[in-house]
Amino acid sequence: EERMVSNELQEDDSSIEFSLRPANLNQYIGQTKTKENLRIFIEAAKMRNEPLDHVLLYGPPGLGKTTLASIIANEMGVQFRATSGPAIERAGDLAAILSSLEAGDVLFIDEIHRLPRSVEEVLYPAMEDFCLDIVIGSGPSARSVRLDLPPFTLIGATTRAGLLSAPLRDRFGVLSRLDFYDTKDLCSIVQRTGDIFHIGIDGDAAIEIARRSRGTPRIANRLLKRVRDMAQVKGMDRILFDTTQEALEMLQVDPAGLDHIDHKFLLGIIDGFRGGPVGLDTIAATIGEESQTIEDVYEPFLLQQGFIQRTPRGRVVTPKAYQHFHREVPEA
Ligand code: ADP
Repeated sequence: EERMVSNELQEDDSSIEFSLRPANLNQYIGQTKTKENLRIFIEAAKMRNEPLDHVLLYGPPGLGKTTLASIIANEMGVQFRATSGPAIERAGDLAAILSSLEAGDVLFIDEIHRLPRSVEEVLYPAMEDFCLDIVIGSGPSARSVRLDLPPFTLIGATTRAGLLSAPLRDRFGVLSRLDFYDTKDLCSIVQRTGDIFHIGIDGDAAIEIARRSRGTPRIANRLLKRVRDMAQVKGMDRILFDTTQEALEMLQVDPAGLDHIDHKFLLGIIDGFRGGPVGLDTIAATIGEESQTIEDVYEPFLLQQGFIQRTPRGRVVTPKAYQHFHREVPEA
């Protein structure tokens, strides 16, 4: 079952995401600090006529890591090549990709924490010295040769920097964390997408979509698409507040951007464990979700919004969560 407010890429998103992708840093909304830093690094690299340092982008899915990587390539005026950790199974696969790069190119590896160890080891000399160490032959006649690679920029993306092995993490010159977007930035993203869709959106309607998007552009664009469907079915050429509310209610996304799985998770802790603390694995098993998915994909937003807290003894639901469900906060 696909969640309306999952920040993971869904089949339906792929068809539009490419066309919605901003092309340069000026069109990339929010993430001010990251953008400021990158602007300087890009400028300096261009002045020195060198490729940009390797960049690690980390943060929950749908916040714009792939988009930012392709923008960096655009701003540097080089080609953008994209792959992912799970797609590179053997060292030879990576060697083939690396040796096909042109000088200065950006190689983007999504989910870089999922690279097999043997592949990761090929990456170390490639990142550090722009070379590949290849073993030719086997047995006693085997010998190692060193091949030069064109200088390139590796951009890695991952949900948490801590998922990377230390030797890999240390080889990135730039580490940038992407944060959840505030309502104002998400509004701008919704309005920008509306322009691309050639549909007008009232200010209050855009705010409503922004508020329910869990700080995530991917979700904002997805919700907007559904609201647009509703408006079109009603024969309206503009998106108004009422239609937006109706559509979002139908999609069962509540005013805080929480859906039935968040409800199950939070109410599971409230009703089953008196608000916690409860261990992640225990609550995951109770509601039938993967611990890893909860931790990497759903929890960051609930933590950031202050619905739950992490304690050494497990997850605890906050008074804000009780209030959200109109429940009495239990006496300590
Ligand atoms: P990630 O790689 O972090 O999972 P993506 O780069 O695929 O996220 O972003 C998902 C979608 O959200 C993209 O299609 C893009 O249109 C939109 N998006 C992300 N960040 C921004 C931004 N800062 N400004 C405008 N649109 C954005």
